Amino acid sequence: MPTPPWAPRPAAAASLAYVNTDANTDANTNSTGTNPGANSTGANPDIHPDIHPEALQADLPINRHTFFQASLMTALLDGIYDGELTIGELLGKGNFGIGTFNGLDGEMVILDGVCWQLRGDGTATRATMTQKTPFAVATNFVPHIVRRAPENTVRADITPYIDSVVPSANYMYALRICGEFEWVKTRTVVKQSKPYPKMVDATEADESIDFENVRGVIAGFRTPVYEKGISVPGCHVHFIDDDRTSGGHVLDFKLKSGTIEICPGTDLELRLPLTPEFSHAHLAPEDLDAQIHATEVKD
Ligand code: ZN
Repeated sequence: MPTPPWAPRPAAAASLAYVNTDANTDANTNSTGTNPGANSTGANPDIHPDIHPEALQADLPINRHTFFQASLMTALLDGIYDGELTIGELLGKGNFGIGTFNGLDGEMVILDGVCWQLRGDGTATRATMTQKTPFAVATNFVPHIVRRAPENTVRADITPYIDSVVPSANYMYALRICGEFEWVKTRTVVKQSKPYPKMVDATEADESIDFENVRGVIAGFRTPVYEKGISVPGCHVHFIDDDRTSGGHVLDFKLKSGTIEICPGTDLELRLPLTPEFSHAHLAPEDLDAQIHATEVKD
């Protein structure tokens, strides 16, 4: 019989216990002493006391929750930049997400049911329902796990932090990080013209744009390595400021203070484009790792 996801693993026992100890912390008892974030006074400084109190009582470790994805990362890498899914249809799959637009015309972020288009000059505008996407991931975001972010969190801290607060690294996670950023370093794809180059060439000249001392939201997904090729393994996140006027694909950031909200995903609805270009695409490149690193991480 397979081990159920809520069964304690030796390395994760402490984080599995956090749901119950959060409840204890809420009652100011913390009697189990197993909460990794607890201090000697019994209060957990990582738990924000005022927001989303229901998240502290969520029926974790895991609820079934579907993530929707249009097309494949490998298709994007192969230069398949036109899809047939409209933004209107995509929003029917979720009120939260990231992706790009046909022609690779900027980065996408969906927050609270609104789809934003982030362009190479760092500007953000509201996308229309009839625009189309060649690649996007969306879900109805439910903040099952809410934590006050550790101070001065940078991008490299996020994956280990998430792993420390989720019940297992083997599920998908949607992430929403809100707060005050000291800086956010972004890059944004620019609109391509046909014949489309492969993505490593299309993104080679992208300049990075830095935002400083800005309040905003970083939104995206932590994807398990086994999804490599389907999606972007690790954390793939986009930034938009609180005014919804600027943002981009996040290369790095430093969060002064804020909250980290996490929505676990257990089911993947994958929609492949019914286009001649997709049907002829080369979806299993031998240098997949290098291509993903060059286009998404850029360091
Ligand atoms: Zn991106």
